[in-house]
Amino acid sequence: MQLKTQGIILKQRNIGENDRIVTILTSDFGIIEATARGVKSTRSSLSAACQILSYSDICLYKGKGNYIVNSAETINSFYSLRLDIQKIALAGYFCELTTYLSPTIDNANDYIKLLLNSLYLLQENKKSEDILKSIFELRALSIAGFMPDLVCCNECGEFEKELMYFLPLDGLIVCEDCFGNSGYNRDTTIKFKLFSPVLSALRHIIFSPPDKIFSFKLTGDSLAQLCFITENYTLLHTEGKFNSLEMYKSLKL
Ligand SMILES: [Zn+2]
Repeated sequence: MQLKTQGIILKQRNIGENDRIVTILTSDFGIIEATARGVKSTRSSLSAACQILSYSDICLYKGKGNYIVNSAETINSFYSLRLDIQKIALAGYFCELTTYLSPTIDNANDYIKLLLNSLYLLQENKKSEDILKSIFELRALSIAGFMPDLVCCNECGEFEKELMYFLPLDGLIVCEDCFGNSGYNRDTTIKFKLFSPVLSALRHIIFSPPDKIFSFKLTGDSLAQLCFITENYTLLHTEGKFNSLEMYKSLKL
């Protein structure tokens, strides 16, 4: 059966001399693995369209339990992004995290939109790497079902106090006044201090419509705190080990 779709290549692994298995986030079938035959040959028409990060029109053949890439045409290869090793490492982390979160048919397009926008802004230097990384992490986790409840203090319902605590494992916030008297105040509780600008940024990331999530500014200590929170939130709710994240952080030092 012949199938047409569009997708982003998230991962590739070599098999044999010339072939690769590619993991593709497709708009029609969610995340799939497909064999790209002869793709390592310089003459292959598939090689550009089937490399990591490429967003492509893809024609697939569905055989018994596996897909084969029949033809593919690049829509956007993010060529300039590939020239910067630090950016490519961050883009690799976006792909690895997306693969881990395993998009379904129902939410594949939300991930595609998030990935394409993040890669574009990264390539064009429209936003800092720190802010793009934070937005990607929290939004991707939210799409996957790990959206924290940041509406108000979980105890008293206060929308905003000067200092609140974010409890990443419970995925909720508690104000400073309530925290001391609540059952959450234990030695083992993981908590992050949350000042007003960072809480606003976190709310913006999870509650904004897809085309508005990148439209906020944060700098200095507040941005550093946002980065710390979203990375740790991600690591606490996943298996906490992404080779591409380690690579990115080693390049950034
Ligand atoms: Zn409270």
